[in-house]
Parts: sequence; C-alpha cells; structure tokens
Amino acid sequence: MYDIIIIGAGPAGLSAALYASRSGRRVLLLERMMPGGQLPSIPVIENYPPFPSVSGPDLAMQFLEAAMRHGTEVKYEDAVRLTLGKTKLVETAPGGRYEARALILATGAEPKTLGLPDEEKLRGRGVSYCATCDGALFRDKEVGIVGSSAHAAEEALFLARHASVVHMLCPLAVPKDVQNTENIRIYEKAVPSALLSEDGRLCGIRYKDSSGDEKELPVAGLFVAVGMMPANRLCTEIPLTKGGYISTDSEMGTVADGVFAAGDIRDKKLRQIVTAASDGATAAVSALRYLKSI
Ligand SMILES: Cc1cc2nc3c(=O)[nH]c(=O)nc-3n(C[C@H](O)[C@H](O)[C@H](O)COP(=O)(O)OP(=O)(O)OC[C@H]3O[C@@H](n4cnc5c(N)ncnc54)[C@H](O)[C@@H]3O)c2cc1C
Repeated sequence: MYDIIIIGAGPAGLSAALYASRSGRRVLLLERMMPGGQLPSIPVIENYPPFPSVSGPDLAMQFLEAAMRHGTEVKYEDAVRLTLGKTKLVETAPGGRYEARALILATGAEPKTLGLPDEEKLRGRGVSYCATCDGALFRDKEVGIVGSSAHAAEEALFLARHASVVHMLCPLAVPKDVQNTENIRIYEKAVPSALLSEDGRLCGIRYKDSSGDEKELPVAGLFVAVGMMPANRLCTEIPLTKGGYISTDSEMGTVADGVFAAGDIRDKKLRQIVTAASDGATAAVSALRYLKSI
C-alpha cells in the first residue's frame, strides 16, 4: 500500500512527487509515455522562471531528477481504471494493481487525433503527435503535417530542418511563419481523409483539397498538430465540467475524499508549466494533510 499515488509525470505530477516524497511518505508515480508530459514537445521555453530560455526536453529531465532525488518510485504504466473509496485502487494496462490512501490526478492534456481509421494502429509507425520528439527520425524523407496554428507552424519549421520535403496540410488558415521556407509545401484548406500503409507502417496520406478533389501524398511520417484536449478517460467516478476538466477547490481537492487534481486536467484559466508545478505542490501538501487527518 502506497501513501500517495500520482498519475501523470508532467510538471504537475513531478512537482507533486517532489513535495510528497520529500515528506518521507511512500509515493508511486505512474506515467504511460515519457517523463515531462507536454514538455518534450516544446523546443524553447522562455517563461518558466528563472530560466531565460530552456528546452522542453531538458526541463523535463530536471523535473524528473528533482522528483527522483527524494525517493519517488516511478513506473511507466498506463493507468486504465480507478476504484475510489477509503483505499484508492489504480489498475494499469500491463495488469498492475496499486493501492494508496490518497490519489493525485495529474493527467494533463493530450493531442487531439484526426479520428481517421487505423490512426491508433499507425501511432509510432509513421504517425506522430510531436515533431520535436520524433522529427529527427525522418531525416531526408518526405513527411506531412496537419494543422493551422502557430504551434503547427513551429513544428513544420522544425521538421523542415530534417525532412527532404514537408507537406503542410492547413485545414483552416495558413500560418504566416511557414510561407517562405523552401522545403515546406503548403496545401491550403486541405483535409486528410485516409492514412495509407504498407507492412504496418504509414506510406502515404489521402486528402481532400480545397475544391473537394481527393489526392494522395507519399509520406513516411505524418505529424498531427490540431490542438489538445483534457486527458480525462480515468475520471468515470469524478464529475467533469462541460469542457471535460476536473473541478477542484483552491487546495486542489476534488469532490472525492482523498482525491486531488493538479495541472492542465484541472478547470482553470491559465494552463502553463509554472501553474502546473504550483498546482502539483499544493495537491501534494493537501494530500499529506489528508493522510494526517485519517
Ligand atoms: C507545443 C506546446 C508548447 C507549450 N509552450 C509552453 C510554454 O512556452 N510555457 C508554458 O508555461 N507552457 C507551455 N505549454 C503548456 C505546458 O506544457 C502545460 O501547461 C504543462 O505541460 C501542463 O502540465 P501537466 O503536468 O498538467 O500535464 P502534462 O504536461 O500534459 O502531463 C501529463 C502527463 O500525464 C500522463 N498521463 C495521462 N494519462 C495517463 C494515464 N492514464 N496513466 C499514466 N499517465 C498518464 C501523460 O502521458 C503526461 O505525461 C505548451 C504546451 C504545448 C503542447
């Protein structure tokens, strides 16, 4: 039995882990992907004080080291089911069953998918949601990217440093930063309609162009940059707001006894690294206070 289980190793979960494990409590941190949450997908961060400029992957490692230094146990497992009560049971995809007296949900946000058939099957086999993380794997190859935001433009520019050609499908407006880059080809009002694969790997995409005609592009990689959504699949016993976020009080408490939420998964106005880290610290202190009270 753990004292506290934290789900999600982004800035909120890692900061909660640092505060909780420094108190000498037995803390388990569960992460389904890689440490840092959204951080590895950010090339440069200029608003996490006191760093004037830091890369997301570097900051992620520093967050992880700070949490580990004080004895947090980390397991890379996907939490798939919660059973809440006096004891909180967390079940994970590989069949793990972990119990704790307090729980902190720091599952953050995750990239929106395109909702195309086989998208999940091809994730990691040509389809990616993070150019900063995976772009270098496509050196000298043709890749595609879908998105119209400033973030999509940043990802396309990153890809252009590695890939031979970047085909940028912009379902909405074309972001201005990408317009004069030699190896970025822009497809205005283009919407992907199918993923093509060979031997289980992506080998191309089909898309509808602005006049509704279907065309194909031979790409080895497709990067999806169409926004984020709250990672709330675990919250079957916790009510969510209309937007899919968890409501908390100012101490990060939820309606469930001994269950706290921190970071981007929480209903709040400013979703940033500094606020996620702050939420994590508050959630951990609240969880420690709760443990003393029971
Ligand atoms: C492209 C981009 C650029 C950004 N730039 C900045 C910036 O410059 N400055 C800034 O302050 N903020 C920036 N942000 C926002 C910032 O990254 C987030 O606000 C912050 O990462 C939120 O932290 P979090 O810990 O709440 O969630 P996340 O970082 O989303 O971490 C959540 C973690 O939980 C894990 N998880 C989810 N569900 C489960 C589960 N069921 N089981 C196990 N693990 C699970 C996820 O894999 C993830 O690792 C940016 C975000 C993006 C996407």
